[in-house]
Amino acid sequence: MGVVGLWDIVDAVKEDVNLSECSGKRFAVDLSAWIVQCSSSVTAPRVPSPDFCRRNIFHRSLNLVTYGISLVFVMDGPVAPLLKKRKRGQEYYKSALQYKELLTAMGFPVIDSVGEAEKMCAELDRMKVVDGVLTEDGDALIYGAQNVYKGLFKESNKEYTATKYSMSDITARLGLTQKDLIAFALLSKGDFCDGVPGIGKSKFIDLVKEMKKNNVEDVLDRLLLWKDNERLSALEDLQRSLKGIRKSKHCTKCHHEGLMSAHGKSGCETCQLNVDCRERNEWKAESGEKYPECPCNYHKKEAEIMPYQTELKIRATALSVKQFPEQGVKEEYLNCIQDIRGELNTTMQLPDFKAVCDRMSGNFPSAASTLSHMLPAYTMLALHGKLADMEIKPLSIIKSCVKNFRPQFRVNWEKSGIKNLPSGDSSSYEFKVPAPLFEKKYPALVKQYNSNSKKSSQTGAAETGKRKGKVEEGNKRVTDFFQVVKSQKTRETKD
Ligand SMILES: [Zn+2]
Ligand SMILES: [Zn+2]
Ligand SMILES: [Zn+2]
Repeated sequence: MGVVGLWDIVDAVKEDVNLSECSGKRFAVDLSAWIVQCSSSVTAPRVPSPDFCRRNIFHRSLNLVTYGISLVFVMDGPVAPLLKKRKRGQEYYKSALQYKELLTAMGFPVIDSVGEAEKMCAELDRMKVVDGVLTEDGDALIYGAQNVYKGLFKESNKEYTATKYSMSDITARLGLTQKDLIAFALLSKGDFCDGVPGIGKSKFIDLVKEMKKNNVEDVLDRLLLWKDNERLSALEDLQRSLKGIRKSKHCTKCHHEGLMSAHGKSGCETCQLNVDCRERNEWKAESGEKYPECPCNYHKKEAEIMPYQTELKIRATALSVKQFPEQGVKEEYLNCIQDIRGELNTTMQLPDFKAVCDRMSGNFPSAASTLSHMLPAYTMLALHGKLADMEIKPLSIIKSCVKNFRPQFRVNWEKSGIKNLPSGDSSSYEFKVPAPLFEKKYPALVKQYNSNSKKSSQTGAAETGKRKGKVEEGNKRVTDFFQVVKSQKTRETKD
């Protein structure tokens, strides 16, 4: 489910990116999250769930592959962290297995995580094995991922987009570190704790700002040791004692001890004026001078508490929650997964097209129909240089066209060089590719196509010219005819 309110916290740094800008990137995906999303979509409620989910996962991953994006899927490990509140049942892992098999047949690396999949995804991102994590619940950011993409396949101006959050922006622009985000996870409701009631985005931001102003370097550790913080306990006592102190009369104009009428006559000592005193809010506005705080007993004590007022308030609520601070949360988010380095296979393989067609036979009428979705996607990946095993060969450019203001070529491709294909009837397949991408790889073909179309347009122009000549000739004949008729008529009238 992720940590409630996290997206609000990082909302200010979000950035919409077109998926076409992500060509050539490799992303880590929490497969469990996709299974949940793909099963619960409302678009086809009558289709039985596993079939529907399989179809959705198939299309989603191919959509990304079409953009030249490769994926590494991560599955939750069978052993969930001990402190996880809501655990998945064994049934879930059994059903997840079929999707793992499908994606493996589609050539995607699928990794079994040691614990939480989001944690492994973040680890892959931190190790720079991938360029980002595709997620919906944001835990990856708290686990230390550097780039997270959310809300895939939103359509904007006929382009698929995603919302990107980068940790460097979060730190540079919001002043929040990974440890600060863990601190938020401790205060909010999530997978590992129930949090503290009433703490949302604004209260947390105020808390962090106040702590940093008070030179607290490590917000997380401060929170973890709140209970034993003697200074804060003493301030809390002081705050309580303040309620019992009777505040002496204070001037309504300058807010210092005394009466406004008396200040008017003989001035205010704190304002350092012999006659009258100055409005409190005029101090800065007029001279840039700092307002002299009232030195009375009440205000002296209040001034001690003021810099810590947000912290004292939240601390009091937090310490009233029995479980706070939940033990082990910091370690779960902060400790790396040690045993994954060096032994991971994260490279995309050539799909076993035949096996995929078999697995998708319940979703598509024929193997040819399954392949009509797969071949363009994988050809695009190969065009982006991300699928070395796939031998693609363009036979010819059929025509050029424009889609979303971008030039494209409709290309005929040969099938025979592609391995693992089921035996079928057609020997080639057709689909549209972005013209610049195609030209970069096959400049000679494009040159030939351009010169052919130039020739044919010249021939076309010549033919149009010939036609034009004929029409003009015809028109002339019609005019001549009428001229003849006219002159005949004139002659008849004369006669
Ligand atoms: Zn006054
Ligand atoms: Zn005063
Ligand atoms: Zn005072």
